[in-house]
Amino acid sequence: MVRIDDVIDAYLMKRPGSDISRIQRAYIYSAKQHEGQLRKSGEPYMIHPLAVAQIIAEMGLDETSICAALLHDTIEDTDTTKEVVARLFGSDVALVVDGVTKLSKINFTRREERQAESFRKLLVAMSNDIRVLIVKLADRLHNMRTLHHMKPEARESIAQETRDIYAPLSDRLGISWLRSELDNLSLKYLEPAKYEELAKKVDKNRKTRQAFIQKTIKELQATLNAAGYSARVTGRLKNLFSIYEKMQAKGLDYADVQDALAFRVICKTMSDCYAILGLIHSHWVPVPGRFKDYIAMPKPNHYQSLHTTVVGKGGERVEIQIRTEDMHQIAEYGVAAHWTYKEGRPSGPSTDAFNWLRELIENQSEVGDSDEFLDSVRVDLFRDEVFVFTPKGDVKSLRKGATPIDFAYAIHSEVGDQCAGARVNGVQVPLRTTLKNGDMVDIVTSKNQRPSPHWLDLVKTSRARTKIRAYLRAEQRTQSRQVGQELIEKGLRRYGCSFNKMMKTGKLASAASALKFGNVEDLLASVGYGKVEANEVIDNILPDDKRDNPPDAVKEGPIEKVIRKVKRPEGGIVLDGLDNLLVQFARCCSPLPGEDIIGYVSHGRGIVIHRRSCSKAAMLDPERRAQVQWSSKAVSLRPVNLKLTTSHQTGVLANVSNIFKALNININAAQCEPNGHSQGVCHFSFMVKDLTQLNQLVRALKQSKDVLSIERLPG
Ligand code: MN
Repeated sequence: MVRIDDVIDAYLMKRPGSDISRIQRAYIYSAKQHEGQLRKSGEPYMIHPLAVAQIIAEMGLDETSICAALLHDTIEDTDTTKEVVARLFGSDVALVVDGVTKLSKINFTRREERQAESFRKLLVAMSNDIRVLIVKLADRLHNMRTLHHMKPEARESIAQETRDIYAPLSDRLGISWLRSELDNLSLKYLEPAKYEELAKKVDKNRKTRQAFIQKTIKELQATLNAAGYSARVTGRLKNLFSIYEKMQAKGLDYADVQDALAFRVICKTMSDCYAILGLIHSHWVPVPGRFKDYIAMPKPNHYQSLHTTVVGKGGERVEIQIRTEDMHQIAEYGVAAHWTYKEGRPSGPSTDAFNWLRELIENQSEVGDSDEFLDSVRVDLFRDEVFVFTPKGDVKSLRKGATPIDFAYAIHSEVGDQCAGARVNGVQVPLRTTLKNGDMVDIVTSKNQRPSPHWLDLVKTSRARTKIRAYLRAEQRTQSRQVGQELIEKGLRRYGCSFNKMMKTGKLASAASALKFGNVEDLLASVGYGKVEANEVIDNILPDDKRDNPPDAVKEGPIEKVIRKVKRPEGGIVLDGLDNLLVQFARCCSPLPGEDIIGYVSHGRGIVIHRRSCSKAAMLDPERRAQVQWSSKAVSLRPVNLKLTTSHQTGVLANVSNIFKALNININAAQCEPNGHSQGVCHFSFMVKDLTQLNQLVRALKQSKDVLSIERLPG
């Protein structure tokens, strides 16, 4: 059983002469808090925090981590709080203890492998300090070491969780000894029969193997010494899990597992590594295809080493790993090596293997704390992801900054398209809300909801963006196609031809191919977009006799009546050199001939004409904009509304009416009323033929003493 003195000894081994008073206080406080509580084994609960602290101390972590390890279960299992821990032991310790407590609350319900991966990432993402994760792993290790005290059902699910989540996590952090022990213990509880059988087999020839290991070490060491290298050689029988893994992967029996033995050469420099490799290959026959250069190409967790397998003198396959001392530290302790390195050994030979740590530490000493290092590790492992839960407890990983809309599209594109609202952790939130790690998100859908263009500003994931764009494009295409059909239909009607007939007889299809479109739908959509002129299509499909006989009597719909009134007989608008368009004048700005205008291909209303200066027009989709000009022959009359403020009320109407009359402008409607400041406000509606005529009128009105100000109104 671990005592606090053991923990302190382990700590002082790595950091001689350090202050241990906070560790002692943390121990006393934790023991008092857990007093009377028992482990499942019947032992006092305190043995567990002590054992965890011991693991942490042996890993060389700092004093904060050791205090946190001693206190790691106090917030969860005793009546203390984060605030109390912060007050008694400082906010650094409280932060780690609180973090470990939060991780303990995440329950991993086993689903598929990809779920496990997301859970692993969630755990890391939720640890705002990498020490949280390491204490949590140490906690899990001690619980695994004492798992036999638990009930059999509990053993299996804890062991499974360890295999799926915690062992791979320790691998990601590069702590290989921890990974291998967690894997071994998981195997023991998940497949007890196989584990026992394997353990027996391995035990049976353990003695011969040990002898072989000693002999090989001597031989290797002598070879290295003779060549003048200072290096140390270690050898071991691989652990049961890695032997088991090999058997599983290759479908082998234990007897056929060849390289159950692993040797390590730890040397001074990187160039020694390669030289020693050459030396070994000249003494023993290398097995082809088994050489791996993890120095040139490190593993994602920064593991570096040269691996080779050679055939020993007795024909036995032997795996040899060659690395420098620095590489060895990282290989064994991974992220945890950071603390050892920081405190300990800056004078040793430097190699590339440690550069990533060194750079981080150097940057960090300027910033002054270890957060940057921790962030770098995290960024390195997981980049920009955020992990959130579905109501069923599945984890989804999204880009950082993702909103409920991203989440909805991650579930299903239909859920995304119909996403009408969201609840996060049970609370209704706006769709622009940024999701945080661990959020539980519930999407409210509605059959009436449609993706809106402004969603594109809210989403972060490319999946959502693509789906929204696709939806909007399809919607726009449907509308453009309708506009296109209408334009052609109306054009044809003037010649007394039916659109449906042209469709049925395949005339439209041949027009489509003549105009180099894949099909009729594409052609209609392009007409709707204004990319192709309706007249060009009509010219193409009209029978010769009709084309030569321009229309006279035409059936008119309401829109055509307006157009006729507006632009006939000469036509008023020219679009890219083409007249006879289905046009409407926008009511918001009611443009006049002579004014600078712009057209907009609308959904189902032909082309709507705005003044170029109209603020509404500026917001319209640039893709649907059409360049239009007034026809020089335009003689149509256009409505104008003016609001006049006048000096007084009586007699003004008569005076102003005379000005209109003098310019030959008919007033359609007029209304005057007092504005309460002994002035009058008059509204006039009338028709003018163009901007020149309106300007004439305005000048004349301004010259009148009665008129104080003039304003042109829309509509
Ligand atoms: Mn614990």
